[in-house]
Amino acid sequence: MRVTVVGGGVIALLTAVECALDGHRVTVVDQGSIPYGRATSFDQHRIIRALHPGDPLATAAALRAHRRWLELEELFATRFYERVGALTVLPPAAADAGTVLLADAGGRARTLTADALADRYPHLSLGGAAGAVLEDDAGVLLAERVLAACVGWLRWQSGVGLLEHRPAVAVDGERGRVTLADGQVLDGDGVVVAVGPWARRLLPERVAKSLALYRQSLLYCRVPRGVAEAWAATPAVPALGTRRGAWLIPPVAGTALKLSSAAVCRQVDDLTDNTTPERWQQELTAEFGDLLPGFGPAWVLGTKDCYYLSHAETGGPLAVSLGASAHAYAACGGSSFKFAPLIARTLADRVLGRVPDRTGLAALDADPLDARP
Ligand SMILES: Cc1cc2nc3c(=O)[nH]c(=O)nc-3n(C[C@H](O)[C@H](O)[C@H](O)COP(=O)(O)OP(=O)(O)OC[C@H]3O[C@@H](n4cnc5c(N)ncnc54)[C@H](O)[C@@H]3O)c2cc1C
Repeated sequence: MRVTVVGGGVIALLTAVECALDGHRVTVVDQGSIPYGRATSFDQHRIIRALHPGDPLATAAALRAHRRWLELEELFATRFYERVGALTVLPPAAADAGTVLLADAGGRARTLTADALADRYPHLSLGGAAGAVLEDDAGVLLAERVLAACVGWLRWQSGVGLLEHRPAVAVDGERGRVTLADGQVLDGDGVVVAVGPWARRLLPERVAKSLALYRQSLLYCRVPRGVAEAWAATPAVPALGTRRGAWLIPPVAGTALKLSSAAVCRQVDDLTDNTTPERWQQELTAEFGDLLPGFGPAWVLGTKDCYYLSHAETGGPLAVSLGASAHAYAACGGSSFKFAPLIARTLADRVLGRVPDRTGLAALDADPLDARP
């Protein structure tokens, strides 16, 4: 088959990899370079964790994704996964339940008490934190390296083409046709659209209307020398257990410490610039002042705002059919990076007409993911 993949973020690139592995001809087309610096996937890191409290389906899917990421490291012959673990701070009963949930799904984790937390992580001021789940098969995906590895692998495959700086302006889902802004028409047997936060501009009105756009601010920080060793042994923390929803990614493999919070994620009308307004920088600086001893503006190396789309009704991701020959990952729901290998397999199954097996994310429409990082 000839498949056109519109987009050059993690979902599109891994879908292209899936199609190429199955022996099909693939053309990837992006509005910018591939990878593109403004894509949501383009960042130093993303958290991969399996625990989704109270959600056995998503927890099991995340463990499958974890295994697929390890296979992809082998396939691309590149290291991009820092398995530093993930720490989710929860009330004690929920922490115990989380550890059991992970064990039942085949994961490895242990519950930490408040004392154990204070002992292991003196550089985190978890205050009233009463417990946490520390999972082993989790950590940090070096996102930019993932994208570079996909592109590097795709460039060497015969039958794969990468078209850069060529925005798509229309998709005919019945005929498997993509029209580019310069008038060129790409005909094929199937199309996958994964254009991240730009989806409302390309997808049909009925789909676009069901999507909500979010903008989130991030602080990139340098840790002081005195605590560098402690930070080097810190897992990813998808939830610091605070009311405002703070989370952080430790400075692994030469990256910065990254800080953010659900409190600085806001719904917006349009995708505009990526500069973090002063107000949101100050909010984050104040929030982390209470969480990291000694933290202040001197730690901050830089800031960035990122965008993502969610299905307005569920707050989660959305995959839609655009006709007999085209499928779109219309919204990522804010937490799709870790699941990307499974999402890609599901999109490839759909466009290639393959019978889905248990390795994909067949339950995509049922939304087993959530909207947290
Ligand atoms: C602040 C933040 C933190 C996050 N943290 C996590 C995390 O810790 N763990 C996790 O699992 N997930 C996380 N996510 C979510 C994750 O980053 C996204 O789900 C994922 O990167 C989305 O990838 P994508 O391929 O769908 O979109 P993108 O990476 O945005 O790629 C879309 C591509 O489509 C191209 N494009 C757009 N329009 C067109 C067009 N008309 N024609 C051609 N090309 C086009 C763009 O140029 C771009 O390259 C986070 C998201 C945010 C915003």
